Amino acid sequence: MPAPANKPPVSRAQLNACRRCTLWRDATQGVPGEGPGGARIMLVGEQPGSQEDLQGAPFVGPAGHLLDEALHKAGIDRNTVYMTNAVKHFKFELRGKRRLHKTPSQLEMEACGYWLEREIQRIDPLVIVALGATAARSVLGRKSVTLSAMMDEPVEHDGRLVLATYHPSFALRQTSEEARAATFERIVASLRRAARLERKRGA
Ligand code: SF4
Repeated sequence: MPAPANKPPVSRAQLNACRRCTLWRDATQGVPGEGPGGARIMLVGEQPGSQEDLQGAPFVGPAGHLLDEALHKAGIDRNTVYMTNAVKHFKFELRGKRRLHKTPSQLEMEACGYWLEREIQRIDPLVIVALGATAARSVLGRKSVTLSAMMDEPVEHDGRLVLATYHPSFALRQTSEEARAATFERIVASLRRAARLERKRGA
């Protein structure tokens, strides 16, 4: 059943009380998804970054700003989509004072899949866009996925369409302007495709 517009499918308090894996220990707080209860498109990233961990909201750091640009260019209003992460606590390693992102393990993804599944069931989107391979694995409940294949062909999963694209942080990690621009455009193209699929499905 779709979530009521004013009640998040998963609350911060629930995430802060979660002990399904150990990532809560070092993180500042759990970061629940955000967006309207009736969202027809859901974006799923890998995990909160450092800024998201501090602010307690998804996609508010540099990668989130790039995602905002991509959404804008694709003609999608951020306020109409539900945004979340496959894993709700920030996993990192310390390098001096810097907290460097660390990819969540399979066990951590599976543990946190409990919350992602709850969000998917409650929001009930028509189309899910997985940002990166970790998110795609988590959404599909698979141990491996081929990101390039899922970028070209959406997968039908539990009555929804799932497509994948690069995580915006991947674009930020590109060392040349050209590669960064090409990655960004690929994300925009995937978002446009998601919007087309959503219109088609919802018609
Ligand atoms: S990362 Fe997910 S499963 Fe692990 S403690 Fe946080 S909310 Fe629970």
